[in-house]
Amino acid sequence: MTREKGRPAPAERRDAAKAPSDRVPFWRSLQTKFALTYIVVIAAVVILLNTYPVLASRNMVFQSKQAALLNQASTLASPLAGLGTDTLSEENVRSVVEQMGSIGVTRLMVTDPAGRVLYDSREAGSATGRYALLREVVSALNGNNYFRSEYRDGAFRSRAAVPVTYRGMTIGAVYLYEYDREQGDMLLGTQQNLRFISIVICVVALILSLVFSRALTRRIASFLKTVRVVREGDYNQRVALPGSDELSRLADEFDQLTVRLQTTEEVRRRFVSDASHELKTPLASIRLLTDSILQSQGMDRETAVEFITDIGDEAERLTRITEKLLTLTRMDTAVPVETVPVDMGAVVERVRRMLEPLATAGGVTLETELAEGCVVRATEDDLYQVAFNLMENAVKYNLPGGKVMVSLAVAGDRVRFRVEDTGVGIPEEDLPKVFDRFYRVDKARSRAAGGTGLGLSIVRDTVRQHGGTVTASRRVPEGSCFEVLFPLCREGREHG
Ligand code: ADP
Repeated sequence: MTREKGRPAPAERRDAAKAPSDRVPFWRSLQTKFALTYIVVIAAVVILLNTYPVLASRNMVFQSKQAALLNQASTLASPLAGLGTDTLSEENVRSVVEQMGSIGVTRLMVTDPAGRVLYDSREAGSATGRYALLREVVSALNGNNYFRSEYRDGAFRSRAAVPVTYRGMTIGAVYLYEYDREQGDMLLGTQQNLRFISIVICVVALILSLVFSRALTRRIASFLKTVRVVREGDYNQRVALPGSDELSRLADEFDQLTVRLQTTEEVRRRFVSDASHELKTPLASIRLLTDSILQSQGMDRETAVEFITDIGDEAERLTRITEKLLTLTRMDTAVPVETVPVDMGAVVERVRRMLEPLATAGGVTLETELAEGCVVRATEDDLYQVAFNLMENAVKYNLPGGKVMVSLAVAGDRVRFRVEDTGVGIPEEDLPKVFDRFYRVDKARSRAAGGTGLGLSIVRDTVRQHGGTVTASRRVPEGSCFEVLFPLCREGREHG
């Protein structure tokens, strides 16, 4: 296969496919973005996991401690108030406390209304006899219950103080202090477990994110590679990504697009080569004829005129081909044309008048049967083109004494235009190909009749442009039948 000018060689294409300048910078790559997203999400989860449960359980412990300690302090305060005197002394307080037995706190202190310590359960460094002006005691002496707890160095330290009230008077305060390592250890254990779970989550998430983002970017990279190769003009490449996710679907769509491009490219190439071939033939004839005139010495005038007439005919053929090619190219570019309701009957009648001399010369009878109100939304020129090409073919490919029957009718919501002839006919296997550009069943006959092989292509493209269809079939017993169906235009019927 020869390489077209402007199309790179396979090696160049491969180079283009892995052009380093096309590498996505690390910070912009999808892999980085995915990995960062994972990291942010996982970090948020880990932070939450390590704070919320710990804070919640700490608060729960605080609350249970508050209830327990205040309750305990009140339990102590009530027998003290029940001593029945308005003053407390070291002795009566000690006897009450001893009667209560074990109270299960770290320190118990009882003060008089001035804050002087009457009883302190702590043996080493007992504060008995001194003034305990602790915040809790002051608050209790003012008649309020007080509680405060903190979690520090793996232990809960809680303090509670309640007033001892006798006949509405505050006669002292009970102060409790609890140092709880057990609950602190439990909280610490939970904290460590959560930390361990977080590490496991982080490691697993990191591995998974690496694996997934690597797999995804690898598929994207393979897709991109194919896209670049196709961009360079190699339409045989397919992405064909396995799987059924969005990326695979995108790849499928791209592959279908490539198939279409490939088809269009093939059609274009064939058209260009056919067109050049068609143009070359008359040019070669002209060249041959001029050479003959130039080389033959003393050619008689009659032969010279014959040769020059042939040259003229070939030049005319060239004009016809180029005109038709221009028409087709104009259609390919699909410049939107302004369409109007056109009465097709009048157009067909005009074509009949135009072709009458040709038909008479060929000994062919032209019959028309045109119904009223066959209005089509199109342009008059286009409809003329369609009718003229089909009817001219029916006359051209006919036999002396033959007939051409043209009918126009409304069939449901369509306009049916039919051209039948009793001519040479088209072999069954050629029927689907007659609408192809430059396709001719009998080249010699078409040439002799001044054909270009483009007439039916123009008909098909024009008909399609106006929403219609055209079909060719063999006619029984002889000849051919071409049928065009256009959508019926109702808006123009009353005027048409
Ligand atoms: P051409 O300029 O050669 O007539 P067309 O595209 O109009 O080109 O037609 C393509 C070919 O189809 C013709 O060359 C001819 O062989 C065949 N053909 C078209 N119309 C008829 C017909 N009515 N009867 C027989 N053959 C036909």
